[in-house]
Amino acid sequence: MVPPCFDIAGWNRYVLHMTTQLKLKRQRKKRLEQGHPWVYASEIDTVSGGEPAPGDVVEIVNHQGAFLAKGYANPKSQIYARVLTYRADESIDTAWAVRRLQAALAYRERLLPDTRFCRLVYGEADFLPGLIIDRYGDVLVAQILSYGMERLKPVLRSAIEEVFRPLGVYLRNDVSVRRLEGLEEHTGLWWGEVPRLAQIEEHGLTFLADLYEGQKTGYFYDQRDNRAAIAPFVPNAEVLDCFCHTGGFAVHAAHYGAKRVTGVDISGSALEVARRNAEMNGLADKIDFQEANAFDFLRDADRDGRLFDVVMLDPPAFAKSKRALEGAIRGYKEINLRGVRMVKDGGYLVTASCSFHMLPDLFQATVLDAATDAHKILRLVHFSGAAKDHPEIAGVEEGHYLKYAIYEVQSRK
Ligand code: SAH
Repeated sequence: MVPPCFDIAGWNRYVLHMTTQLKLKRQRKKRLEQGHPWVYASEIDTVSGGEPAPGDVVEIVNHQGAFLAKGYANPKSQIYARVLTYRADESIDTAWAVRRLQAALAYRERLLPDTRFCRLVYGEADFLPGLIIDRYGDVLVAQILSYGMERLKPVLRSAIEEVFRPLGVYLRNDVSVRRLEGLEEHTGLWWGEVPRLAQIEEHGLTFLADLYEGQKTGYFYDQRDNRAAIAPFVPNAEVLDCFCHTGGFAVHAAHYGAKRVTGVDISGSALEVARRNAEMNGLADKIDFQEANAFDFLRDADRDGRLFDVVMLDPPAFAKSKRALEGAIRGYKEINLRGVRMVKDGGYLVTASCSFHMLPDLFQATVLDAATDAHKILRLVHFSGAAKDHPEIAGVEEGHYLKYAIYEVQSRK
């Protein structure tokens, strides 16, 4: 192709303004067409228009040169590009970001009874890859997980101010995937004012969330519906909540009529908040929070022959990568084996996994394996995933990360 001007400055201008194009290979799985917004380096046939700088917006075309999408690129990452729009005529600017945020809000306003306390933006699933925004009343907590989103911060800020009008936004960029993008981890105020402890409401209960230092963004909204799902199983029950964090499940159990609840977590600071949460809801006399490694606690309690009507297990992701899966399966099996052994006959095991690599069938098979070893028969009474403010795109497997099951437990001998 002949450039429009022949002096070197003109050429440079031409090259700089020419959009980089990623032409994808003919032989590849049509993941992008199925809604998976990632392009791996191995799927790219040619890069024309010069190697993009991290965060540059590029065009993605199929092997015949037909337009597929526009996205941001990061040649330093294994995920070479992520889709920002499927429309050739859409520019990536504040108006685009405003449209995206408005759509994310409208989706939640349709599906949730209360959008003051929820996940407003769930990255790829809200067509904003690499951006998480959780709302805690008047303030927001955001995570920026990719180089492309980092570069779009000025645009995002204007759009967030316009659509959500928060009093402040706190950044919880202490997430290890940032390193894979060539970004550092950090936390701190983005703008405005954000208190360390925010108060939220869930099913008529109030909870404090530690926005500066709590796990992830401070509270796990994804388990909201699953916390309510325990209601029929806990009246008058002795309940164990392992990996209880700030007491989400434990406080719900006490509220729904449990006689006694034991909450166990390894984090002293999470338990401090958990105790305040129990107090705030007038349930402190029913819940005993203990700081311990759940693996040790379960081993000792099992050895001592302790029994509960309901055992709940909501561990952190044991398998952060495919390679870590084998060790993770052992971990899930161990806690479920101990847990299920401590369920009284006719009681319930409430068990979850938030590792994407632990696929739903594998998770259920692992729990079954544990129950078989423990001479228990399981009856599945409930199986679900994350709440509706964590939408899933059909073609994106990583979106189905949360598995949550309630089993009735019968002894076999
Ligand atoms: N059920 C909670 C969320 C659990 S998140 C809720 O509804 O809010 C996972 C929790 O496991 C975190 O609080 C973390 O501190 C805790 N944790 C991680 N490893 C642990 C271990 N080995 N023993 C006990 N708790 C652990």
